[in-house]
Amino acid sequence: MDRKKGFTLQLMVSVLVILSGLTTLAASMFIAYRNEKKSLTRITLEMNKINSDRIADSVDGLFFTMKTSLSETARYLMRKQGQTDVSEMLNLFLLNHPDFNSVSMVNENGILLHSSAGITEMTGQKVESVGVAQALREKRPLVSEPYMSVGNRLIVLVSEPLFDENGTYRGFLGASIRLQEQNLLSKMITGVPSGGSGSYVFVVSSSGYILYHPDRSRIGENGSENVAVQDLMAGKSGAQRLVNTRGIDMLASYTALKGLNWGVVSQTPTNAVLSDSKKQVLGIALYTIPVMLVVIIIIYYLIGKVSEPLVKLARFASRLSYRTAADEPFPRIHDWNYEANKLYGAMAIAVNHVRHEYDNLLLEAHTDPLTGLFNRRVMDHYIQVWMAEKVPFCLLILDLDHFKQVNDTYGHDAGDEVLRAVAQTVRANTRREHVCCRFGGEEYVVLMPGTTRKEAAGYAETIRLCLEQSASPIGRPVTVSVGLAAYPDSAVDSEVLFRLADEALYKAKRAGRNRVESN
Ligand code: GH3
Ligand code: MG
Ligand code: MG
Repeated sequence: MDRKKGFTLQLMVSVLVILSGLTTLAASMFIAYRNEKKSLTRITLEMNKINSDRIADSVDGLFFTMKTSLSETARYLMRKQGQTDVSEMLNLFLLNHPDFNSVSMVNENGILLHSSAGITEMTGQKVESVGVAQALREKRPLVSEPYMSVGNRLIVLVSEPLFDENGTYRGFLGASIRLQEQNLLSKMITGVPSGGSGSYVFVVSSSGYILYHPDRSRIGENGSENVAVQDLMAGKSGAQRLVNTRGIDMLASYTALKGLNWGVVSQTPTNAVLSDSKKQVLGIALYTIPVMLVVIIIIYYLIGKVSEPLVKLARFASRLSYRTAADEPFPRIHDWNYEANKLYGAMAIAVNHVRHEYDNLLLEAHTDPLTGLFNRRVMDHYIQVWMAEKVPFCLLILDLDHFKQVNDTYGHDAGDEVLRAVAQTVRANTRREHVCCRFGGEEYVVLMPGTTRKEAAGYAETIRLCLEQSASPIGRPVTVSVGLAAYPDSAVDSEVLFRLADEALYKAKRAGRNRVESN
């Protein structure tokens, strides 16, 4: 079996097609993923921005109303000093503004004069807290930073200074928001649709302290390491991808409040967004891969079809050799492939040429060019085969009589003519299965398989008579002497057999020529 060298056309082209297909798929997946990532990032940032803007607007609006209300109440209380029940007024105020957790009146010395229900036990005492100290010191409308109240709660104090009709500072009216309890921020933010999975909103003060966070334990924490918080502290709004204080990659949008120096941050973990885009791309790949497999199979099949004629020609060419060229059937190619057709044409010409050459060589190798009879090689071959197969046969050696004289008298060319004519006579008077050869010079050998000595002698006699009785090309008859030997009767060895036939021939020559002798 011939070992295959190299790869088939079908395999190579298929591999190329598959490689280019996979590269295209990978590239388009990569581009799809990048685009998806980009647009998801943009959309998430936009949604977060809408969220933070809306919350900021609401908080701003609400604070404005609350502060106005607080300042109105403060002024009213100053006007109606001594004529009204302050505690009741404060309770009423709280009823109208449930977003505050408590409201109290503190005098210029920090003594709690009145308060809404819930913290009345401290009435008459001096309140020493950061917020109170700041309000007394600054004597202006304030929203404090988060701090621990006397009641040990994390609060923000919204205060309004109190001035009497003479313009003398009389303390302040302070309303607190308890950050870690249900308050205006938690009410406002909870329930607002978020920008995606894992999204959340938090609110920071002007110093970066967290006023609201869904994780309550983080309220009061300083978040100023966060880039968004830093922007907010500088009064800037924006949207960007950042790493938060906990080291988590976030898509954050943030809005600075207008009325207060607070800021709202709405953010979504980047991972949650990107895992979405990964899922999307994987989804596309899942749809694409089966389609691609089908396309690859079809392409493989088509390439097989396209390369089929070439494959056939290649197989045919690989089977070709001098030995088989003559009978190897030419492949049938019906084709629409230009190159294959060209190759086919060229190959047909080449193969036919080879076949022609082969036939000629075969003929030359087996025949004597002058007479067209078989040559000695063929003779030796048959003798060898028949002896091996023990096929009985007779061997005749025919030698022209006085041929030298023919040459001398009529010339060498005439002699050649005579040699050809004798060959024809020999052929004409023997059977198809007899092997007639020119042995060399003016000698012929005829091998007669399955013939008895007597029958062979009969054929020899016929030839002899025929020559004797008919004119040769030189115008007169030429005669032959014939020696005969039989296998296996005379000898079983070819050399001995030849020697015996030769001896018979000489006997015929000595006996006067133009006769048949047997050994
Ligand atoms: P004999 O009866 O004893 O056989 O005599 P002969 O002359 O035939 O024998 P000899 O061996 O003396 O001569 C054979 C001659 O055959 C010699 C040679 O010139 C001639 N001869 C051999 N081959 C060819 C050939 O191919 N063409 C021609 N024209 N003559 C040939
Ligand atoms: Mg001779
Ligand atoms: Mg002779």
